[in-house]
Amino acid sequence: MHIKIVNLFPELLNLYGDKGNIIVLKKRAEWRNIKADIIDYHIEDTPYLLKEVDIVLLGGASDYEEKILFKFLLGIKNILKELIESNVPVLAICGGYQLLGNLYIKDSGEEIKGLGILDFYTKQEKGRLVGNLIIENNLGLLPKTVVGFENHGGRTYHNYNTFGKILTGFGNNGKDKKEGIVYKNLIGTYMHGPILPKNPHIADYLIFNALKRKYGITFDEFAKLDDRIEMLAHRKVLALYNKRFFFKK
Ligand code: GLN
Repeated sequence: MHIKIVNLFPELLNLYGDKGNIIVLKKRAEWRNIKADIIDYHIEDTPYLLKEVDIVLLGGASDYEEKILFKFLLGIKNILKELIESNVPVLAICGGYQLLGNLYIKDSGEEIKGLGILDFYTKQEKGRLVGNLIIENNLGLLPKTVVGFENHGGRTYHNYNTFGKILTGFGNNGKDKKEGIVYKNLIGTYMHGPILPKNPHIADYLIFNALKRKYGITFDEFAKLDDRIEMLAHRKVLALYNKRFFFKK
């Protein structure tokens, strides 16, 4: 088996170690004897490269970079929408997540346009939401907890399904206890850190869905890996907060 993973605009979407997500996806595929090609898609590239990709990654970006990116993203909007609608797993982090919505409204009143692939908006409000973030995922994955780090000024509001319920931290907007977005096989989240090394179950969710879509494999056919080291990192973050978040094996 073989998967093609595209990392969109790594020169601009690359905050707080988001590159680590790509390394995790590649290694976890290879540990299962699945060949994984990583395509870094740059602003000068042709959308043709995005044909038949199996996983799409959008990292985080500052407001400044988000603004620069819009016109380049617009050039691939239709193809990105098609990929999302046809159940390609997508992981969009923070600025990358915000850009999938309609609009990012800055507190100065300036409006940064989003792609409008998903119908939501983000609004900058007073103060930044910074720190470790722990949620309980809504995807039915075990362990239930997902851990990460957030740092954003934008607050996102939407009515889609969410990635999870906040146990500690701020998430989408610091008010409704909701984190991220789930649409088909797309996950949008405020979790940097990067998210996947400390959350192998989320990495596997993306890889499994890519393989299921491409090769029709069942969960029983998806090889399990030894995640003891990854889960030590996961539990370390849980332990920072509260012993009751400890994941029981
Ligand atoms: N520009 C966004 C904000 O601050 C996203 C930042 C990020 O990706 N961490 O709200």
